Amino acid sequence: MDKQSCNIVQDLLPLYIDEACSEESREVVEAHLKECEACREAFEQMKENLKFPAEHADAKRGLEKIRKVLRKKYVILALVVAAVTGGCMAGSWILQTIEEPIAYEDLKMSVVRDKKDPTLYNLTFNGESYAGLYSEAITLKEDKNCIYEAEIVHCNRSFWTQLFERKPLKNAVMWSFSENPDTTVGYVADEKGNKKVVKTVAAYYQATPGSPRYLLWEADWYKKAHGKSGGIV
Ligand SMILES: [Zn+2]
Repeated sequence: MDKQSCNIVQDLLPLYIDEACSEESREVVEAHLKECEACREAFEQMKENLKFPAEHADAKRGLEKIRKVLRKKYVILALVVAAVTGGCMAGSWILQTIEEPIAYEDLKMSVVRDKKDPTLYNLTFNGESYAGLYSEAITLKEDKNCIYEAEIVHCNRSFWTQLFERKPLKNAVMWSFSENPDTTVGYVADEKGNKKVVKTVAAYYQATPGSPRYLLWEADWYKKAHGKSGGIV
């Protein structure tokens, strides 16, 4: 075999191994390999060398595959964790947010005189836990200097308090009313800038609008001066 055709064949060998050469080149290479010992050796050698990268690529593809599967698993895990966390948060939000009024009979609230300050009366709870205490001030009477108000209060329970705060409240003081006639809770000013002080003189419990109002407390001095709470019940 002449050196020149050997060179040409060996140049073609990588393409031949990759099965990337033309039909004619393939025939030439195969015919030459049958005849030429040196080129056969070069061919075997080259095939060995090329096999490794191929195997390496396989291994790499395998790793890539595992990584992809792992990544997918982590993504699913993260989604599951997010869904569970979100579900719990939404659940607890719903449990705490959805409230319903508590009937006066269920609350066991009373107004008791404060032990330290005899002019204070404390709105005290002994019944079930409540989720919220709400109040609305209404005007009972108004004169030149003063607005006399009553607080209409009500409490709500939530699924949360019913499920997780089942221990009943014991003498829980939530509000204090002052019996002192000089105690004011604020003031309002009219268009002319005249100020009127605001005094809380009574408190009622009313679970829902339209339901009966229960008198919780009334300032003695107001009752004496104006009669029974301006007659709201
Ligand atoms: Zn040759």
